[in-house]
Amino acid sequence: MNVSEIQVDGYERVVAGSEPESGYRGIIAVHSTVLGPGTGGTRFWNYASQDEALRDALRLARGMTYKSSLAGMPLGGGKSVILGDNRTKDREKIFRAHGRLVETLKGKYIAAEDVGTSPADIEIVSRETRHVGGLAGKSGDPSPVTARGVFHAMRAAAKYRWGSDRLSGKTVAIQGLGHVGYTLAEHLRDAGANLIVSDVDDEKVNRAVEKLGATRVSSSEIFAVTADIFAPCALGAILNDQTIPQLRVQIVVGAANNQLLDERHGDLLKKRNILYAPDYAANAGGIISFGIECLHWDREFMLTKVDAIYDTLLHIFEIAEREGVATNVAADRLAEERLQQHAQAAD
Ligand code: NAD
Repeated sequence: MNVSEIQVDGYERVVAGSEPESGYRGIIAVHSTVLGPGTGGTRFWNYASQDEALRDALRLARGMTYKSSLAGMPLGGGKSVILGDNRTKDREKIFRAHGRLVETLKGKYIAAEDVGTSPADIEIVSRETRHVGGLAGKSGDPSPVTARGVFHAMRAAAKYRWGSDRLSGKTVAIQGLGHVGYTLAEHLRDAGANLIVSDVDDEKVNRAVEKLGATRVSSSEIFAVTADIFAPCALGAILNDQTIPQLRVQIVVGAANNQLLDERHGDLLKKRNILYAPDYAANAGGIISFGIECLHWDREFMLTKVDAIYDTLLHIFEIAEREGVATNVAADRLAEERLQQHAQAAD
């Protein structure tokens, strides 16, 4: 394995590995280990270039630092990427090579699954290094826990906006009925909310219509429906110059990562008086569920941490109002504050 160190300002370690025999090319970025080992998924993607892969690893690793910090987790931020076709059948040699690259960091990075990788792939990684998380049979599928956290984030936003966290009678428009979106829809149905849903997969929409009494709209209509809350649970970058002017809701809370195309779109939502629950605060259930495996928490304790997303969101909304900034800026400030406190305590 050829391993080279890449120096990037603001990052603790960035390494690139390649192995001509197996065709493996990967990058690991460790943004911060101030709170604990840099923990984050392994993304397997057909990047156009090494530079594009590096940019993605850096952005995602930094995001994990902030997510773990806000969630109160003793974990830092890291992420890895593998360059290539994630549908390849030849997984053993690719993921074994990745495991060897992870092992070079000696626990500064803990690898988990992400887009293009599965628990089975991470099991292969674990044959070369013990620094992995998200193995089948341990923390399990994080999606139901993520959905529970998003539901509590939504209750907190309702409390802040309307003075009551009851969602009964409210209308929620959900984009994406995948692992998280569908479970969120079930929580909302149980809470007495009305559902408007869209997914590019018709079968998933049919299921929500039949089982949850949801109303279907097309993928392009979901942004413009009149509802109380919009819940993006499919793709990133969907809050942008084209979609924000269309929104007819008072609150946006969802599971998708990187919902704002750009930081300034947080301001645009604020100007439209739409309360935005920052994505990485609302969708932290997945990383919190990791506590079972990495920190030996029992399930009950882990769920109390997930339910505390409610208080974190209220805190973010209060900071945003007090400091006159958008909620995404307030969330960043809170995450940075916690990092600084830890760094100072360690000095
Ligand atoms: P998933 O792949 O199971 O579901 C995504 C769903 O979105 C699919 O049903 C897909 O058909 C649908 N979709 C894709 N394009 C769409 C479009 N244009 N319009 C409507 N629907 C569309 O993924 P998931 O695990 O449910 O995760 C959803 C989002 O939440 C992702 O952005 C993910 O990164 C994020 N997230 C997930 C977790 C987790 O625990 N699974 C944790 C944190 C963040």
